[in-house]
Amino acid sequence: MARRIIVVGGGAAGMGAAGAAQGTAPDAQITVFSEFEDAAYSPCGIPYVHGKEIASFDSLFMATKQHYIDQGIDIRYETVVASIDTKAKTVTTTTGVTEKYDSLILATGFNYADPAVPGSDLGGLYYVKNIRQAMEWDKVLDTVKSAVVCESTPLGAEMVTALAHRGIETHLVEPAPWSMSMATDPDIMKPVEDSWLELGAKLHFNTKVTEFKGTNGQLSAVATNEGEIKADLAVIATEKVANTALAKAAGVKLGMSGGIIVDGQMRTSVPDVFACGDCTEIPHGVSNVPIQGLSGSHAYAQGKVAGTNAAGGEREYQAVYVPWGMVAGKWMIGGVSFSETLATALGIPFVVGNGQGISRARYYPDVKPVKVKLLAEPEGLRLIGAQLVGGEGIKERCDFLAMAVRTGITLRELATMENVYSPPIGALGEPIATAAQNALANLKG
Ligand SMILES: Cc1cc2nc3c(=O)[nH]c(=O)nc-3n(C[C@H](O)[C@H](O)[C@H](O)COP(=O)(O)OP(=O)(O)OC[C@H]3O[C@@H](n4cnc5c(N)ncnc54)[C@H](O)[C@@H]3O)c2cc1C
Repeated sequence: MARRIIVVGGGAAGMGAAGAAQGTAPDAQITVFSEFEDAAYSPCGIPYVHGKEIASFDSLFMATKQHYIDQGIDIRYETVVASIDTKAKTVTTTTGVTEKYDSLILATGFNYADPAVPGSDLGGLYYVKNIRQAMEWDKVLDTVKSAVVCESTPLGAEMVTALAHRGIETHLVEPAPWSMSMATDPDIMKPVEDSWLELGAKLHFNTKVTEFKGTNGQLSAVATNEGEIKADLAVIATEKVANTALAKAAGVKLGMSGGIIVDGQMRTSVPDVFACGDCTEIPHGVSNVPIQGLSGSHAYAQGKVAGTNAAGGEREYQAVYVPWGMVAGKWMIGGVSFSETLATALGIPFVVGNGQGISRARYYPDVKPVKVKLLAEPEGLRLIGAQLVGGEGIKERCDFLAMAVRTGITLRELATMENVYSPPIGALGEPIATAAQNALANLKG
């Protein structure tokens, strides 16, 4: 009899898992349960439609529903799995339908942390996730005069940029002293924050939301410890927390970060139950500490591993070094593993090198600055982290530097790296090499 594989969740992880399972065992009977009306769209593009950089939500859909029917993947849209019986190997939906599985893949993703202040049930609080809801919110944005973005997570930073671009009076309320402080240092974020101010955004650092205030059930102001901000919209961009209620109730083991514990094949503590994406936790390659709330590309890659193994194949996932990058204000920012702030907080010793360079030949039109900061172990000078801010070429450098951290490259090797020089795409000197050379010079000094 064909193997029955059930996937719970139709996001990047769930759809990656379903596709890989199908590729591994074409005869398998694969069912995906998705709470939402659609699967296979990119939520990552939503802030850019709101900001009017992308013309329409239509382009965010990556495959049609017919595509999955043709592929033989049975997607049950708008269907929530309410419980799992790991002994009987069944899942049951909120509508009372029970289905048997041979392998189960949990891809239940993340929720935004509850702001946990009064007024959280008012209308006008926007949790950016579901594309159908985003389409409705986009119409609302045409009527919004003043918006508050609650917390400067990566999504918060994207939404500040998007709403300010759209001409809405935009306030960022962030408890930390600078933006995205969980991954960045203040010197890296300074150009971004300056560019938000140029766009007209108002930045409230060291400030906490204390209440959402409303009239007739609708938001009218956001109260903070520094005073009240009139607002008809609040974007809740709090940190991502693993959505593990279903797994926990089924007896699947959770880890210290709150994510589902998985091994290298994405197996959970329960036989024949796999997990992938933002509902899991994965060890960090440098610190070995399990971390949770990674990115869409991690979720998709983990989904492929879970789907392959759930279908009887063999695929491994490894520890992560977490390259990240994005546009915020008029700059691109990015990094890998540790910032100075994070390394200090974790008690990890390091040496630093900064390099200021350019993205193209200095005489070529539209040449942009590129700043690189490298962190390395004091002994041996092995790279353990990087941060970048600049006008272009940030993503590629972050990808390269993540591989450099993973393979144990040292500052000495980076200081003498070869680089491409071609006036429209690269300068004679590479800012990564400059940062490494400066670090070595400082050490000598
Ligand atoms: C606005 C936005 C912007 C983003 N931008 C980027 C970006 O620029 N780069 C990047 O790499 N990543 C980005 N991401 C991706 C994101 O940060 C996550 O890493 C990614 O969505 C995780 O995928 P996932 O499949 O694990 O979880 P999710 O995307 O959370 O999907 C989980 C799915 O499971 C469903 N589900 C949960 N429980 C049940 C249940 N019991 N029954 C049925 N269905 C259930 C949920 O409804 C959801 O559809 C963005 C996400 C959003 C929302």
